[in-house]
Amino acid sequence: MGHVIRTEEQQAAVDGLKRFLDAKVDKIFSKEYRDKFVPREKMGELMRQLTDFGLISGVVSEANGGMGIDWLTMTMLFEEVATTSSDLSIPVLINSCGALWLEKLAPAHLRERYLPGLINGELFCSIAISEPDVGSNVLEIKTRAKRDGDDFIINGEKTWISNGAYSDFLFCTCRTGDDPRRGLTHFLLDRKEHPYEVREIHKMALNSQSTTQIFLTDVRVPASNMIGKEGEALKNTLALFERSRVTVAAQGLGVARRALEEAVRYAKERKQHGKVIAGHQLISAMLAEMATNVDAARLLTYRAASMIEAGVPAEMEAAMAKYFACEAAVKVARQAVQIHGGNGVTTEFLVEKLAREAIITTIPEGTTQMQQLIIGRALTGVNAF
Ligand SMILES: Cc1cc2nc3c(=O)[nH]c(=O)nc-3n(C[C@H](O)[C@H](O)[C@H](O)COP(=O)(O)OP(=O)(O)OC[C@H]3O[C@@H](n4cnc5c(N)ncnc54)[C@H](O)[C@@H]3O)c2cc1C
Repeated sequence: MGHVIRTEEQQAAVDGLKRFLDAKVDKIFSKEYRDKFVPREKMGELMRQLTDFGLISGVVSEANGGMGIDWLTMTMLFEEVATTSSDLSIPVLINSCGALWLEKLAPAHLRERYLPGLINGELFCSIAISEPDVGSNVLEIKTRAKRDGDDFIINGEKTWISNGAYSDFLFCTCRTGDDPRRGLTHFLLDRKEHPYEVREIHKMALNSQSTTQIFLTDVRVPASNMIGKEGEALKNTLALFERSRVTVAAQGLGVARRALEEAVRYAKERKQHGKVIAGHQLISAMLAEMATNVDAARLLTYRAASMIEAGVPAEMEAAMAKYFACEAAVKVARQAVQIHGGNGVTTEFLVEKLAREAIITTIPEGTTQMQQLIIGRALTGVNAF
């Protein structure tokens, strides 16, 4: 539902993935594991099955063992996964971003060790930036990495870390110096070799996948596990934010699109006042508004993805896509509940779950307010943070 002009290859890629998701995956998240935690083994099996469709290896170049799929097509694939399940799309998106970090920033020995497993669905990673006192302002990160000979000793606490329970390794943003901008460094922590403690966080939705606190107590990691150069974590994180924001925009888009699809189906079946409710003008107007928001979200998301693929700076456009698509998800899902009437608030219907998920999309990868501030700064040159 909803169209842009796709190339034949893009359409074939999307159609193949959609057939698989509809046949094999949809029921798992909408029924079998609805609001229930999917164990690592099962999530791993799904990741491995998705490799046939270019996930996750598409984000990595052929030179590094991936399929080298362009970012716009990848975004279309992310949208399909999110339309089926946000719980599935989070591990897909986190592992994809981790693969980008390994390819673009990691030294060869780490890339060679972890990238193949990550792109063939055998390994999971987490990306740990946020802390209990550090959310929107990453400059304030407190987790410390102190040099000790050829090693660093890490102490601190991370929170909201997606994939935490599944993770085999962690990209951990640590403070190595006092300069707020140039004092942050990334390290790769292997869960077995540099153990970190993981505790699950229960949320209003998205409980079929893992979001965790992570505790780091005297974790000794060799300096050779540094990702990028010392002091360059902020610069490197910001460089990859454009792509990761587009992935979360695709997630908002997927939630909105699914809510619209469910509402259209229901409006054509449910009868009141002698006809299907789709025949009532106020329902029709609501559906029109929902569809327009979904398409606008898609166009903004695909535009940002195309700019990134073309190598054009897209900070503002990625922020617009994330902001609009995730807020659209909230509005569209709420309207889908309304169209379902009383049924919409029961656990028998998917829209109840979608409405809870939509609210969450507006928070990670920079809240709606952070995206607005980025857009405002791009327009005026004045920093209003
Ligand atoms: C499901 C989920 C998954 C996540 N996954 C990860 C992950 O894998 N890795 C990771 O590192 N983090 C992750 N996060 C954390 C996420 O990035 C943060 O929650 C987010 O950046 C917001 O930080 P905060 O929650 O501390 O909110 P705060 O920064 O405390 O913000 C609270 C409110 O204040 C507003 N606000 C803050 N500063 C300003 C300002 N200057 N002007 C106006 N308003 C402002 C915010 O918009 C928000 O409304 C995840 C979060 C969620 C919910």
